[in-house]
Amino acid sequence: MLSLARFFARACPAELWYNPRVSETKAPIARSESREIAELRRLKDEQPDLSGAADLQIELLQLQRRIQSRVALPSIKLEAEYLNKRLAEGPILQFEHLPVDWSDMRHLLRGTATAMRNHDALDDADYRRVEVLARDTERLPGLVRTWYESVRPGAAPVSEEIAGLETVLQQAMRPFLTRAGDAIMARSDFTSWKNGTCPLCAAEPDLAVITAAADRLLICGRCAARWKFDQLTCPFCLNSDRRRITSFASRDGQYRLYACIACERYLKAYDARQASRPVMPAVDAVATLPLDAAAIQKGFR
Ligand SMILES: [Zn+2]
Ligand SMILES: [Zn+2]
Repeated sequence: MLSLARFFARACPAELWYNPRVSETKAPIARSESREIAELRRLKDEQPDLSGAADLQIELLQLQRRIQSRVALPSIKLEAEYLNKRLAEGPILQFEHLPVDWSDMRHLLRGTATAMRNHDALDDADYRRVEVLARDTERLPGLVRTWYESVRPGAAPVSEEIAGLETVLQQAMRPFLTRAGDAIMARSDFTSWKNGTCPLCAAEPDLAVITAAADRLLICGRCAARWKFDQLTCPFCLNSDRRRITSFASRDGQYRLYACIACERYLKAYDARQASRPVMPAVDAVATLPLDAAAIQKGFR
């Protein structure tokens, strides 16, 4: 169980939030997070091997939920015309738009690190590095900014102080990122966006969902934005040679995995066409750990 939790942190650094506003199914979900936790508990019952990872995920969701309810709107003009114009120039969401309350952020950092350490997904040395980071009120915003901007083309890599702590930062920043992502997504139109990276924060997708209309929507690993992307093009290297993309379904038909032979990376998708619930990235990240293991075993990353 412990090794799975560790694996979980490494292999699935970016399990995402379910965003009810852009749900592709009919059923409205009032309290998506409670439902996510209920699904994680069900998953534990059905697949005891996944309990370590599910417990960690539940703790992280509970921690984030307490902050989520009071996060402000992003500081960007929330008007469709303005946002769509910005999108034509590149990813919309800049670091300074993020509604980060730094006292909450420090709390989230400590809570995330504690939960991960307790589930053996963070070693003691890294735990202490997070403690130091959370105490450094002066430098924390600048360091988080370098992490946020590091995914942009040509950006400098993250500094030594935060290298290796990306998963912790990502989890801790989640309430602010998803709040900003939801607010912008509700007011903009991503149909013109053809890139494999996020139209809002420029990060890579971490999961995809196949909709009832058989479209594939990619889901950002950081802000949970979703955008339509060609079914058989690799979002990581844009290889579209179908002979060099393999795709297969999980045994229960609930998930698909697309693996690119050109760049050796893979992406999982939740197939919502026959599903009884909408995609829930925080749940699906745990449910697909066996798929990750299979893909990694085959040499994909
Ligand atoms: Zn994003
Ligand atoms: Zn590729």
